Amino acid sequence: MLINFKQFEVWFVTGSQHLYGPETLKQVAQDSKKIVDGLNQSGKLPIRLICKPTAKTPDEISAVCRDASASDRCIGVIFWCHTFSPAKMWINGLRTLTKPYLHLHTQFNRDIPWDRIDMDFMNLNQSAHGDREFGFICTRLRQNRKVVVGHWQEASVQEEVGSWQRVAAALQDLKTMKIARFGDNMREVAVTEGDKVEAQIRMGVAVNGYGVGDLVKHIDAVSDASARKLCEQYDSLYEMAKELSPGGARREGLMYSAKVELGMRRFLKEGGFKAFTTTFENLYGLKQLPGMAVQRLMNDGYGFGAEGDWKHAAMVRCLKVMGAGLKGGCSFMEDYTYHLDPAGAVVLGAHMLEICPSIADEKPSCEVHPLGIGGKEDPIRLTFAAGAGKALNATLIDMGNRFRMIVNEVDVIKARPLPKLPVARVLWKPQPDLQTAAAAWIYAGGAHHTAFSQAVTSEQLEVLADMLNIECIFIDAHTELRRFRQELRWNAAYYGA
Ligand code: MN
Repeated sequence: MLINFKQFEVWFVTGSQHLYGPETLKQVAQDSKKIVDGLNQSGKLPIRLICKPTAKTPDEISAVCRDASASDRCIGVIFWCHTFSPAKMWINGLRTLTKPYLHLHTQFNRDIPWDRIDMDFMNLNQSAHGDREFGFICTRLRQNRKVVVGHWQEASVQEEVGSWQRVAAALQDLKTMKIARFGDNMREVAVTEGDKVEAQIRMGVAVNGYGVGDLVKHIDAVSDASARKLCEQYDSLYEMAKELSPGGARREGLMYSAKVELGMRRFLKEGGFKAFTTTFENLYGLKQLPGMAVQRLMNDGYGFGAEGDWKHAAMVRCLKVMGAGLKGGCSFMEDYTYHLDPAGAVVLGAHMLEICPSIADEKPSCEVHPLGIGGKEDPIRLTFAAGAGKALNATLIDMGNRFRMIVNEVDVIKARPLPKLPVARVLWKPQPDLQTAAAAWIYAGGAHHTAFSQAVTSEQLEVLADMLNIECIFIDAHTELRRFRQELRWNAAYYGA
């Protein structure tokens, strides 16, 4: 259910004007088509580009912006000016455009043809100043957009365009995202709360609560036969604990976990939900806290947040869409406990149960252990460690007058065996180091929950924050605490507290 990028398109609109005569405009249209074909064939763009007719007048510009806004398939627009295109012509169009846009500051030819260059060439190839006129009006309109600079045949330029397309797809997904909250918030917890009305206005995401009893009805309706069939799938996918294996003493518990998965799956599918939350304080009628069920639903692309954390459920889903099809997974995450060795301080990330197996670099084992809180039957869970490599943690908090996203780049290191720890986990060194990163995170008010991704880049989250017009701050290799605290103060002034 993750996402089908084939349902989407990105439009490519070239700006020009009538000043240069039909021959030049014919060439502009041909060159634009070549650029679009080249980008589509590069293999670097996950979403197909559609070449639109050259925009030469205010009416043509307004029409294409209106059509892009109205199209269900179009998730974003790429603008480029082959020639000069007087930017007052763009005001009305850009003001009505409701899709995100990328300004591709390229030119058709890579090199100056030193021997042949003449005034015809100069009339045709004006991106260097035409795109600056276009850029002025975008800035004058206070519009967020992504600017990509370089020749369109450069792999790095193509990758930047592709990476932006993924964010545009995630934005489109977010705009239509329904989140089911089973139960409400964990009592008295602050950071998982927030303004759901503002979230829907700002991001499109619709968050609504459901009684656990509604879910229990779906779970109780699952037949033994279908639960048994799913358990057989588990047997083939995971290292099964002996007691959970066929004929094992606790196979019944596994059967119940399978019913929870099937019931939840049905509930989410029927309601068209892309993400959900649970809370261990509200499990009325459920025999176990959903562990493996949540893990497997996340693995299929659902966003998830524990303890009613709808913001991180949205973030997990969003990052999953952005990274769809790429190497590396994405999970709901929590900074759990520290290793404060000055020679290499690291974070052990985990949750009570709900870590997504998409980040595992080993075959997960399926186990059952007591939880210690919640007062229910011992929950079934998948345990595993994540592989080493680059990753990031992203959080979204509600500052009262705005949403703030905080992104910390981390290096995952291979965990030593933890034979007594019955949960999935990740060990990471935050950039630039744990002391700076944790202090910065805490000064910024970052949540204890995050969306963890091995596939998404912090640059993509910067683009997303721009598209949503929300605050975004980064903790990375360059972070220096004194400067970071100043940045928080500057942002406070910018956002009015
Ligand atoms: Mn938690």
